[in-house]
Amino acid sequence: MLTGRTVVSVDPAEHSVVDDAGESYRYERLLLATGATPRRIPNTEGIVYFRTLEDYRYVREQAVAGARIVVIGGGFIGSEIAAALVGAVAR
Ligand SMILES: Cc1cc2nc3c(=O)[nH]c(=O)nc-3n(C[C@H](O)[C@H](O)[C@H](O)COP(=O)(O)OP(=O)(O)OC[C@H]3O[C@@H](n4cnc5c(N)ncnc54)[C@H](O)[C@@H]3O)c2cc1C
Repeated sequence: MLTGRTVVSVDPAEHSVVDDAGESYRYERLLLATGATPRRIPNTEGIVYFRTLEDYRYVREQAVAGARIVVIGGGFIGSEIAAALVGAVAR
C-alpha cells in the first residue's frame, strides 16, 4: 500500500500505471476506485462543495438563527444537510 501518491496515467495495453513521483507499477488486473467529485458550477463564488471537515465547520458557523442558505442537489447528502440546517437556523 502506498499513500500520498496520485496515479497520473494508465496504460491498459502495457498493464501499467505511473504515479506523480514518476514510479511505474505493473498489474494483472486493474480496479479503479477513485471516488467521485462534485460537479463545479462555473463562474460562481462562495459555494461550499460539502466534502471535508472544514466544509462542515464553515457551514456550521454560517447556520445561525435567521440565516438563509440554499442547498443545491437534492440527493441523500443535500437532503440530510437541508434537514439539519432547518433545525439550526429556525432556533
Ligand atoms: C459529506 C458526506 C457525507 C457522507 N455520508 C455518508 C454516510 O453517512 N453513509 C454512507 O454510506 N456514505 C456517505 N457518504 C458517501 C461516501 O463517503 C462515499 O460513497 C464513499 O466514500 C465512496 O467510496 P469510494 O471508495 O468509492 O471513494 P472515496 O472514499 O472518495 O475514495 C477514493 C480514493 O481514491 C483516491 N484517488 C482519487 N484519484 C486518485 C488517483 N489518481 N491516484 C490515487 N488515488 C486517487 C482519493 O484520494 C480517495 O482516497 C458521504 C459523502 C459525503 C461527501
